[in-house]
Amino acid sequence: MREFEKSHKLDNVSYDIRGPVLDEAQKMRANGEKILRLNTGNPAEFGFLAPDEVIRDLIENAVESEGYSDSKGIFPARKAIMQYCQLKGFPNVDINDIFTGNGVSELIVMSMQGLLDTGDEVLIPMPDYPLWTAAVSLAGGNAVHYICDEQAGWFPDIADIRAKITSNTKAIVLINPNNPTGALYSKELLLEIVQVAREHNLIIFSDEIYDRLVMDGAVHVPIASLAPDLFVVTMNGLSKSHRIAGFRVGWMVLSGEKSHVKGYIEGLNMLASMRLCSNVLAQSVVQTSLGGIQSVDKLLLPGGRIYEQREFIYKAINDIPGLSAVKPQAAFYIFPKIDREMYRIDNDEQFVLDFLKQEKILLVHGRGFNWKDPDHFRIVYLPRVDELAEIQEKMERFLHQYRR
Ligand code: PLP
Repeated sequence: MREFEKSHKLDNVSYDIRGPVLDEAQKMRANGEKILRLNTGNPAEFGFLAPDEVIRDLIENAVESEGYSDSKGIFPARKAIMQYCQLKGFPNVDINDIFTGNGVSELIVMSMQGLLDTGDEVLIPMPDYPLWTAAVSLAGGNAVHYICDEQAGWFPDIADIRAKITSNTKAIVLINPNNPTGALYSKELLLEIVQVAREHNLIIFSDEIYDRLVMDGAVHVPIASLAPDLFVVTMNGLSKSHRIAGFRVGWMVLSGEKSHVKGYIEGLNMLASMRLCSNVLAQSVVQTSLGGIQSVDKLLLPGGRIYEQREFIYKAINDIPGLSAVKPQAAFYIFPKIDREMYRIDNDEQFVLDFLKQEKILLVHGRGFNWKDPDHFRIVYLPRVDELAEIQEKMERFLHQYRR
């Protein structure tokens, strides 16, 4: 029989969040073992229910949503997204600048496919949400990672960004608030990034899917609002804020100066048309979601589940000798560091795999987020405190074996 291999387009593409460690976890579950899953940012899985009004809207719209829509999305959804952006200060956005997608994921891939030729470079944060790196590679580009500095609350290192720009650099990607670090960027930092993009004629891509999940009274500033003279593409969606990751609702907004990107926008229009449209029933809940009460807010205040779980996991991790973590201010991830002078660990993926087999807790290793060293892992702190409590004792015991 003729052998069929995956295409060479995939040679440099990796997406480790769903990699070998998850395969092992699935095997263990199939054998009836109970696993504490601290690996996916999927709120519904941990008892975070979607707002009632969203579900009602979905049911009521079922019949009206049977056909394809405009390839960029239905009018009420795009109108609501447009208003959301205007309230957040995005410059120069009208309804034609908004594309709905089957989750932000589809739009990340689409935006890179439409932009990159072989050898083009895109600056991507390290650590990153790995789909960005994978999408750049799939489109034939090179992902060039800039450092986010743990010592500086995981803020991007501007000097490193500058040092990595070449004549091939087309764009810079920001994930703000950040997955996997939980960092929320300040306006001052964003202004510095805008200045770099301005000096080097870069397109800014900003993934802001966690913009409604910030804590401690902080305010999320969209970088688009600081860059009226630049072309900015902002991604957002309802998977996290409205706990409907399974509905697949995302959007992409083109803002700021567009006179020099007409060709790219033509490409995006073509790619959006080729997939006909995003899920129309899912689009139908956008207006209610953005216009209704933001029920996620109370989860993020003291006494709310996400807030209390953040407080718990932050303390639990920092209380384990040789582990440390920056306090996340947004989203629901924490990215602890392992002190390798204290512990003999040089393969983070093996570490996470062994922890899974031994303690039945599933994490994702830091290099799955394109982090450079084998000394971090990510915890999704969506499970309830009583479940999260298991981690402290088990991690301490587990780490003991690696003690130098
Ligand atoms: N961007 C970031 C930073 C994410 O963390 C995720 C999901 O975890 C996505 C995009 C994908 O979201 P969606 O469900 O909209 O495809």
